[in-house]
Amino acid sequence: MYATVMHGPGDVRYEQVSDPRIEKPTDAIIKLSATCICGSDLWPYRGLSERNGPAHMGHEYCGVVVEVGSEVKTVKPGQFVVGSFCLSDNTCPHCAFGFHSSCQQGEFMTGAQAPYARVPLADGTLVATVEMPDADVIPHMLAVSDVLGTGWYAADAAQVRKGGTVVVVGDGAVGLMGVLAASQMGAERIIAMSRHATRQQLAREFGATDIVAERGADGIARIMDLTDGVGAESVLECVGMGESMDQAMGVCRPGGTIGYVGVPHGVSFDGQKLFFSQRRMLGGPAPVRRFLPDLMDRVLKGAIRPGKVFDLVLPIAQVAEGYRAMDERRAIKTLLRVDE
Ligand SMILES: [Zn+2]
Repeated sequence: MYATVMHGPGDVRYEQVSDPRIEKPTDAIIKLSATCICGSDLWPYRGLSERNGPAHMGHEYCGVVVEVGSEVKTVKPGQFVVGSFCLSDNTCPHCAFGFHSSCQQGEFMTGAQAPYARVPLADGTLVATVEMPDADVIPHMLAVSDVLGTGWYAADAAQVRKGGTVVVVGDGAVGLMGVLAASQMGAERIIAMSRHATRQQLAREFGATDIVAERGADGIARIMDLTDGVGAESVLECVGMGESMDQAMGVCRPGGTIGYVGVPHGVSFDGQKLFFSQRRMLGGPAPVRRFLPDLMDRVLKGAIRPGKVFDLVLPIAQVAEGYRAMDERRAIKTLLRVDE
């Protein structure tokens, strides 16, 4: 089959690779219903993370099971499934504690920007629906796999509560999903930091009550103003840069919590500053598997429409343009159609 391979920074090709096959008895092969490009795929695309040779890209997926290994028991061919970008057994002590992204057997999904993909640890990773969802539901289901699951985790880790005040740092796809999550969790005030008109509008649609366009010290001052000089008790850091983490720290009130899900690049902390600031922090790769059944249920009920975050849809053969559009911030997030 043809699939997406990154050969180096800025060099993404849709080219012939060997078909995925069952390699372990715990594997499944799925036929993708749709796939997409992640903000985190831009780190290697921009040459900002280490790589070893050509990489089969893609870790966000949903689709129909076509084959399972001999030990797979919970999913079967013909079922529609969604899985997390973190593969997990769902049985080890860390999975049982809700931290599937630290699974003792865990690995990261790869190779999903393709018509077919191998999903290791299928039993612990995939969640099936009762029926095949309608075509218009597919983008929303796909979003659950990573971008919504990650935004949800940011809000969960930041201890968003009913009636609470939340700041979301970052207006990328994950930040926008963080706004949606905070809104679903009942936050009363959701302040989204964004300078881009289209992203501001989407943030409002997802439940933002205030938009702050300023950044740095000005952004912090504006939010302190909006919160009567107190700050927010829940802050979602959805970027992963030193500047965005400083922003998150600067608007979080003492005793408040920062949920951080942007992969840190150039972020460091001063121990004494951290000590006296009295902020709580939890972050990391999102344990999306913990949230999958609930989020899939919300999508199927029509309660949330996270797939609105896809503002560019391309046939997968044009995947290179999808990367370019996101790199140049012409697109928030690219959905890749695999149906031809
Ligand atoms: Zn586990």
